[in-house]
Amino acid sequence: MTTIFTKIIEKQIPADILYEDEKVLAFKDINPQAPVHFLVIPKKEIATTNDISEQDDALVGYMHRVAAKVASDLGVAQQGFRTVMNCNEHGGQTVYHIHLHVLAGKPLGWPPYTDVLKLE
Ligand code: 5GP
Repeated sequence: MTTIFTKIIEKQIPADILYEDEKVLAFKDINPQAPVHFLVIPKKEIATTNDISEQDDALVGYMHRVAAKVASDLGVAQQGFRTVMNCNEHGGQTVYHIHLHVLAGKPLGWPPYTDVLKLE
């Protein structure tokens, strides 16, 4: 399924691009949830974490290395950052092209949700 992220990859719509090579693209999130919030996406269309196949193992690992490299370039790697990949409705996914959120620039709370934990 083609999403708005494919349009960003193909430069049909603008984005604040932080890193790009033949495999991945990193760009600032349009609605930041932390002082630093960017996304790392594969150029290959993979809809959700559930759709990652064995042949994508290296690509998904590489996305994490790019996340750390861009965080380092932005000066936030040493203090730390959080990577998140939301999956489907309960995970809060809204764009069905996998993407690693990278959040940084302040201490991030844990757990990451604000509702009361109900175990039953
Ligand atoms: P999800 O909810 O799927 O985990 O995250 C999708 C993210 O993509 C959201 O944080 C949202 O702000 C971001 N986003 C959606 N559309 C655009 C866009 O057109 N440009 C950019 N830069 N970010 C987008």
